[in-house]
Amino acid sequence: MTALPTVAVVGRPNVGKSTLLNRIVGRREAIVEERPGVTRDRKSVQADWCGRGFMVVDTGGWSASGGSLDAQVSAQAERAWRSADVVLLVVDVTVGLTPEDTRVANRVRCGGVPVLVVVNKVDGETREPDVWEFVRLGLGDPWPVSALHGRGTGDLLDEVVARLPPEGAEEPAGAPGGEDPSAEERVPGVAIVGRPNVGKSTLFNRLIGDERAVVHDLPGTTRDSIDTEIETPEGRLRFIDTAGMRRRSRIDRGTEYYSLVRALQAVDSADLAVLVIDAGEGVTHQDQRLAERIDAAGCPTVILMNKWETLDAEARADVSAQVADRLHFLATSPVIKGSALTGRSIHKLVPALGQAVDAYRRRVPTRELNQVVQAAQVAHPSPAGRVLYATQGATEPPTFTLFTNRELAPTYLRYLERSIREHFQLGNTPLKLRVRRR
Ligand code: GDP
Ligand code: GDP
Repeated sequence: MTALPTVAVVGRPNVGKSTLLNRIVGRREAIVEERPGVTRDRKSVQADWCGRGFMVVDTGGWSASGGSLDAQVSAQAERAWRSADVVLLVVDVTVGLTPEDTRVANRVRCGGVPVLVVVNKVDGETREPDVWEFVRLGLGDPWPVSALHGRGTGDLLDEVVARLPPEGAEEPAGAPGGEDPSAEERVPGVAIVGRPNVGKSTLFNRLIGDERAVVHDLPGTTRDSIDTEIETPEGRLRFIDTAGMRRRSRIDRGTEYYSLVRALQAVDSADLAVLVIDAGEGVTHQDQRLAERIDAAGCPTVILMNKWETLDAEARADVSAQVADRLHFLATSPVIKGSALTGRSIHKLVPALGQAVDAYRRRVPTRELNQVVQAAQVAHPSPAGRVLYATQGATEPPTFTLFTNRELAPTYLRYLERSIREHFQLGNTPLKLRVRRR
């Protein structure tokens, strides 16, 4: 039997956690105490929304006499993220942001579990403007609800269900490596893609042959493929087996068409891509098509111009110009000119991938983000509308929410995106900007 995913409800006393729990479960199962600060046992009830079952846990655990406030906050937050797939941090709009809310937020943030800020007691529209204050918790857009009246709880549950792990993805108990998934970061998947004969297998074998690499084979993302995990100085990387790269004798990786299909599948399941191009042949139409697809998939990419040692100076200049011209949409991607066969410059590849992973996972400080956005607006005011406040709602990829007083022109958004990207050195990692009108 696989366990249901878990949603933990945290927050200080009296914000409406039990009421929300009742609302989610649809019956009066959790007990609502009218007195603040009453100790309650941890309550766990089963719920479902749109056919998706999950457990909701009220982490409880606050009491006037239960030790220092700080210790209680820590204990509650820790219980939540240890056991949960999604954490709901409940706050109270009628009280506003309190130092305790901030404390809980800071603790749950460390757990690496998605957290939704639920602003409760928004019983009517007049309360709506007060909701934005909670953006300052740095946990993304707040979700206004009235647990008592059911206002907004449907939208919230849609989001909760969307954040749960895909169905059937729960680790069966006792599976190897399934001990404590929160203890370790997910290993990013890298797809090495390119036309046949550009040198993908040679590159792959060189990477795993590197004496610093510790290699583990894992079942791959497609049937009868084997992914390979490599321990590198930049952390672990999982190389997705794109074309039976380990089995060089297999000739079926031959045709251009199938290799393209496989490459595209790999890119869709990858976090990062290495696009290998045979510099001897220059940037071909097929290379361009692949690059466009990688770009569309939103994969940060490192380009390897392979077989570089076979080119003379003139050819090198020509091919460099082709990269700038034909792959301009990957302009921010690092380009390595090297040789998988001789190993020349291949040592630059893993650090380039490491940087891409860092950028993909970067969380920027809210204060600095707002300084950057304000400075950009001063340097170059928008013709209409203004960003009032900005916050990073998510990572992988970095996702920013801009609270504005009006719609902003797409060109202006691109300008802001560039400013953010440059200031925080996000390289070619895909960024998402979401605009919320106040
Ligand atoms: P908990 O301590 O966080 O579990 O909070 P409770 O669920 O016990 O609720 C505390 C108080 O807030 C109770 O008196 C609830 O009736 C009230 N309450 C909960 N949700 C709402 C809401 O959406 N609107 C209003 N106006 N009151 C609420
Ligand atoms: P794949 O089809 O992309 O996996 O390409 P392979 O790795 O099988 O390489 C195709 C051919 O290119 C083989 O004969 C390799 O030895 C050769 N090759 C790969 N990398 C280089 C390189 O950097 N320089 C040269 N000169 N040949 C290379």
